[in-house]
Amino acid sequence: MPSISVVMDILYCLWIFPMVGAVEEILMDSTTATAELGWTIYPALGWEEVSGYDENMNTIRTYQVCNVFDNNQNNWVRTKYIRRHGAQRIHVEIKFSVRDCSSIPSVPGSCKETFNLYYYETDSDTANKVSPAWMENPWIKVDTIAADESFSQVDLGSRVMKINREVRSFGPVSRQGFYLAFQDYGSCMSLIAVRVFYRKCPRVVENGAVFPETLSGAESTSLVVARGVCVPNGEEVDVPIKLYCNGDGEWMVPIGRCMCKAGHEAVENGTVCRACGSGFFKPSQGDHQCLQCPINSRITNEGATNCVCRNGYYRTDSDPPLMPCTTIPSAPQSVISIVNETALRLEWSAPRDGGGREDVVYNIICKSCGGGRGGCTRCGDNVQFVPRQLGLTETKVHISDLLAHTQYTFEIQAVNGVSDQSPYSPQYSSVKITTNQAAPSAVSIMHQVSRTPDSITLSWSQPDQPNGLILDYELQYYEKSMAEWNSSVVRSQTNTAVIRGLKPGAIYVFQVRARTVAGFGRFSGKMFFQTMTEEEYKSSFQEKLPLIIGSAAAGMVFIIAVVVFVIVCNRRSSERPESEFTDKLQHYTSGHMSPGMKIYIDPFTYEDPNEAVREFAKEIDTSCVKIEQVIGAGKKSTGEGEFGEVCSGNLRLPGKREILVAIKTLKVGYTERQRRDFLSEASIMGQFDHPNIIHLEGVVTKSAPVMIITEFMENGSLDSFLRQNDGQFTVIQLVGMLRGIAAGMKYLNDMNYVHRDLAARNILVNSNLVCKVSDFGLSRFLEDDTSDPTYTSALGGKIPIRWTAPEAIQYRKFTSSSDGWSYGIVMWEVMSYGERPYWDMSNQDVINAIEQDYRLPPPMDCPSALHQLMLDCWQKDRNNRPKFSQIVNNLDKMIRNPNSLKATTPLSSSVHLPLLDRSTPDFSSFSTVDEWLDAIKMGQYKENFANEDFTSFDVVSQMTMEDILRVGVTLVGHQKKILNSVQSMRAQMNQITSVEV
Ligand code: AMP
Repeated sequence: MPSISVVMDILYCLWIFPMVGAVEEILMDSTTATAELGWTIYPALGWEEVSGYDENMNTIRTYQVCNVFDNNQNNWVRTKYIRRHGAQRIHVEIKFSVRDCSSIPSVPGSCKETFNLYYYETDSDTANKVSPAWMENPWIKVDTIAADESFSQVDLGSRVMKINREVRSFGPVSRQGFYLAFQDYGSCMSLIAVRVFYRKCPRVVENGAVFPETLSGAESTSLVVARGVCVPNGEEVDVPIKLYCNGDGEWMVPIGRCMCKAGHEAVENGTVCRACGSGFFKPSQGDHQCLQCPINSRITNEGATNCVCRNGYYRTDSDPPLMPCTTIPSAPQSVISIVNETALRLEWSAPRDGGGREDVVYNIICKSCGGGRGGCTRCGDNVQFVPRQLGLTETKVHISDLLAHTQYTFEIQAVNGVSDQSPYSPQYSSVKITTNQAAPSAVSIMHQVSRTPDSITLSWSQPDQPNGLILDYELQYYEKSMAEWNSSVVRSQTNTAVIRGLKPGAIYVFQVRARTVAGFGRFSGKMFFQTMTEEEYKSSFQEKLPLIIGSAAAGMVFIIAVVVFVIVCNRRSSERPESEFTDKLQHYTSGHMSPGMKIYIDPFTYEDPNEAVREFAKEIDTSCVKIEQVIGAGKKSTGEGEFGEVCSGNLRLPGKREILVAIKTLKVGYTERQRRDFLSEASIMGQFDHPNIIHLEGVVTKSAPVMIITEFMENGSLDSFLRQNDGQFTVIQLVGMLRGIAAGMKYLNDMNYVHRDLAARNILVNSNLVCKVSDFGLSRFLEDDTSDPTYTSALGGKIPIRWTAPEAIQYRKFTSSSDGWSYGIVMWEVMSYGERPYWDMSNQDVINAIEQDYRLPPPMDCPSALHQLMLDCWQKDRNNRPKFSQIVNNLDKMIRNPNSLKATTPLSSSVHLPLLDRSTPDFSSFSTVDEWLDAIKMGQYKENFANEDFTSFDVVSQMTMEDILRVGVTLVGHQKKILNSVQSMRAQMNQITSVEV
């Protein structure tokens, strides 16, 4: 039932808004009768069926009565049974004419001009002449009907009679059917036509929904509700979807609606939802029409809700479907870079083509290049980008904390909202820069190693950004109770220092700073350390004495006791550091060693070498180690192949930052001897702590695979690093590397460790170009490995002939002086960018040449001072060779005074040296320029030479620097190498000519 308000609305609408015309369904029509109507008449002399004419002069059957002169007329005529057909309200249209009483002469007063209409409901056609009774009740009166117009002529068949038309309705009816009856009570009239019908609302499509044919209600005010169903491909928007059918069979008051769903549009007055045609789409439900696909999109099937972007074009989830498909932006333009020491400002302009979008942002990719190992590597996390590295909205960025003296490539990528959908990487513009020299960053942490009443031993970490090779550290200190300007200064070449001459029990303030060729870095923050009081010292010494005496079984400990005794006696002048090491490491010598210096212990002096591992190497849980990729093959072991692999990876120790590490693994299936040999390297390395010695992080021995974990050296081994960067460094940079190696070797020497295999291949280089001595394994010397030709079997082990001093080759006299000889060879390797010492000479030829006092000549462009130092290292008498401490001092002097490195040995003079010279090979031994280029290791320029017609020795020998530039040799080192070789070719040609003359 509609609520009152709805009814009000309905009524209101009823008045203003009937929608669709009613359909009339005829139940009976007297005018269509062709034979007699045969209605029942009562009494016999009342109504009479007569044929007549209607207003159009069509023949019709009518009923007439005109007993106006007789009183008390009650004449009934009853229709035949009329079936209801479901109708609830019946409409009766009556056409009739009535004679005007006044026009009938001497008519009695009883003359009438009206008649009555009745109906009688029944389920079956059972009426007869007497039943139902001819009276109101059982009949139900519908109305007394009066003529609107009557007529006055007597002749009822006359053409001028007036025809009335009246419609009466009744209901509700509920039986199967009914009869109608017309009662005359004294008129003169004719029933011309009777039409009986009901009304219904037709099937209709309205508001996008189909409403079925609906019969009107029983009352004239009834509203019959009909539910609508959306047309195919329509969807309900407001529910319920209804229309009301009123008593007159008219639809009204639409409620709710359907709309065509996405991909379909309304046509034919909203009665049909038609699929969008090819090239058109409709993204959502609604009344709107299908739209043409936006630019760069298309669709071929019908009923599309969205157009598909063409290849190479995309849209984001938030792009409106009407927006054209877009693509990735072109590269940023006009990049400008401004380098300031180790910082950089990049500016660029927006890409020419934003891909059709407004949301272009920029990412900066930083690669540090020229560091060996396949060119460029991604920069580490330490490089700072302001405002940020990725998603820059402005066309500029400030980059800092780069490494000094390093080549970088920056790629400025333009990306937009659809870049990540494209299979192609973003377009970018790149810029190459080289940072300048910069002082090292500040040391962040300093800690106390030991203390006595008059000294403190401190150590500190290397600055995060050394920006070059650290020459030394400067430690500034003063007593806390005194003024700062009173401070003293101590220099140290390592990251430890012993500060002597302090007051007992006093607090001192310390600051340290590093120095490189670029000068001093900033001082660290102030840190406070206190010397021991006399009392503290006495009690600590007494606690330790029994331990020392208890271990006096070993002869060496006797020396310790003696030294300790000396220390006790001379407490003021010497120091006895508090041990951070075990007793096994506490060896003192009375000779040249500085007091407190520990010496190296051969792990093989341990009865159980595993104990040495436990002693010197920290055990790491394998879960802290993440192996990333294989970077090399480990050393060969005893004829059974390699130990395993060398990998890079990450180490995260509990409570510490994750760091990059190198991981050497021991292959599964190893023998106990292989395991011991493998781990011996860790036992040795673990005893060292120096910035130029590879640092051991720890070992994994308790789970498989067994691993040795060391700090990661980004640039790998020095020999290949130099070969990959031929000619790329300044002499100062090369000397800086050599200085680092010498400092590491000095430390090993001080620790009484003889390396025996010092060579560029056993030096590792990190991203700061810091060189560190590595390779302390024993395996390389084991006799039964025949796979590596570098090492030649000799009595008692294998020897790398080219790097080894004659006395070590001849009678295995390995000392730090023989390491000094090897150091000279490393110098030569470094200055020749990884050339093989003695080139392709056989080992025996090398031994013979050395025996005859031949030595390697200076590499190209090698400063004479450096070659002189090499020659010193190659003195036959090992006692004449410089000590590593002298080498370090010597190199430091050169770094401080770069002018000393300017002089190089002139080419022509090289022939006078009683030494080998293979740096500029004889051109006449080659038949083509290509062969000659290969020989001088410049084979990569063959094509360049050929393109510019430098294809004969005659032309090449005349080449100038301009020519070399013209063929496209841009690297300074390569330019020099080619120019030198060309000059030497010219000199050789001149010689040949003069001989011929
Ligand atoms: P090794 O067995 O020590 O000679 O190592 C084999 C190769 O692995 C070396 O030549 C280096 O290229 C590489 N490698 C070894 N240790 C490291 C490290 N700590 N950092 C980076 N690369 C390393």
